[in-house]
Amino acid sequence: MMKQSLLFIFLLFSLAACEGGSSDNKDNSNGSNTTENGNTNGGDVDGSGDTDGGDTDGGDTDGGDTDGGDTDGGTTAKCFNYEKEGGPVDGSMDRIENYPFNSAHVLVYKFNFSDEPVGWSDSEINTAMEEVKEYYNTQSYCQFGTTWEIAANINLTARIADYTQGSQLCTDWWQVAKAEIESTNTVNYDEPGGNRIIMILGPEKFSTTESCYRNSTAGYSRMNIYHHKPGTIAHEMGHAMGLHHAKAVDGGDAHIPFYEDPMEKPEYNCQGLTGSAYQDCNDRLGKILIDYGNIHSMMGMGAHTLEEYNLLYKHFYGWLDLKTDVPLIEKSGKYRINAFGHGDKSKGQVGLRLKSGHDKYTYWVEFRTSGTTANQTNEGVMLNLQGYAEKSNPHKSWWKTISYLVDTTPGSFTADKWWGDDQKDSVLKVGKSYKDYWGGFEITVLERSVVETGADAWIDVQIDMLK
Ligand SMILES: [Zn+2]
Repeated sequence: MMKQSLLFIFLLFSLAACEGGSSDNKDNSNGSNTTENGNTNGGDVDGSGDTDGGDTDGGDTDGGDTDGGDTDGGTTAKCFNYEKEGGPVDGSMDRIENYPFNSAHVLVYKFNFSDEPVGWSDSEINTAMEEVKEYYNTQSYCQFGTTWEIAANINLTARIADYTQGSQLCTDWWQVAKAEIESTNTVNYDEPGGNRIIMILGPEKFSTTESCYRNSTAGYSRMNIYHHKPGTIAHEMGHAMGLHHAKAVDGGDAHIPFYEDPMEKPEYNCQGLTGSAYQDCNDRLGKILIDYGNIHSMMGMGAHTLEEYNLLYKHFYGWLDLKTDVPLIEKSGKYRINAFGHGDKSKGQVGLRLKSGHDKYTYWVEFRTSGTTANQTNEGVMLNLQGYAEKSNPHKSWWKTISYLVDTTPGSFTADKWWGDDQKDSVLKVGKSYKDYWGGFEITVLERSVVETGADAWIDVQIDMLK
């Protein structure tokens, strides 16, 4: 009884603390805020159909321009993993480890075309951004603040029809946006600096025009939003801060084991290839490294419904204490894992890390009890690989690590349905065991709490170290 009431008080306190915490924004711009949710890649081009590892937005945003080369406005602190020289890394993978800020500040530039206004009012934008702010506040266990401002409402004399008719015009659009933003003299387009993210907000028509479909995309410190949803913004912000998609890889003998690290095999290393050779390579790669494959996660297919980030990606932001929240397990034994979501990690460890026998890889074991795309996730634990196939996108403006959800039931895909069906049942269920292919450990899921959802749920696992 006593314990319960103490707990209750603590919960109240932590909720209150959470609200306060969300305001720790570094630069608090004036208030208007916005964003919205849903769907990241909105309708999703890449979402639905194509698996391929290739990563649509991977390479980033506006056409070619990538953050590659340039600029460096110079004034602000060097931004996380940005390297002035840009371009592909030579394999040294020396990008920094984490996003260095505890906040993001979004500069919204609205682009109204003469024949097609954005169609999202400032107040609607603010409402959406409030949702994004709340999302990041919860995800971060109250450690991350989101601020925004509507930096400019730009009325173009051009018609949207001028930019939705064929490939050249399609690719030219970003240059218009860039020139207009530069002319406002409010920000350095290439290097906004610090925690700032430029949001180019265009009419949704861009995302519904067949002749020139544009996915909402993002690259370093910048995003193009054509789906007016909080989830789209939250997802693209993840990219703008440095995250790749949350991908998946099959856990059966056919894949992980055979290919140890796909990028070490010439037929899967697409770097330096162009044209059809690149495409062919990318198609092969995409069958192994499944883009958006962690369908349960914000950076996979979970943006539409504002699903939780996976633990490994929360670590990118520094929201976890690795020692106490996600300890590295080095001894055999029985361990409890508490549900990691819901803005609450007060119950004890919310995950475990296990070293693969292959020294480069670490498994992150998590227990996901929230979610709408993923109603089977609480039937067991999810395994995400860290360190696997890191070179598949070595550009320095991205975090070096990509999370790979290990599908412990590969091949459950049914061809006449959605491709992501194969990943729906990725969890290692109660009663099942998974052995690290490289001989590091075996994990067996023992039992879970009677409470199956929410922050109070837990699951017990047996770890047997094999090395
Ligand atoms: Zn994306």
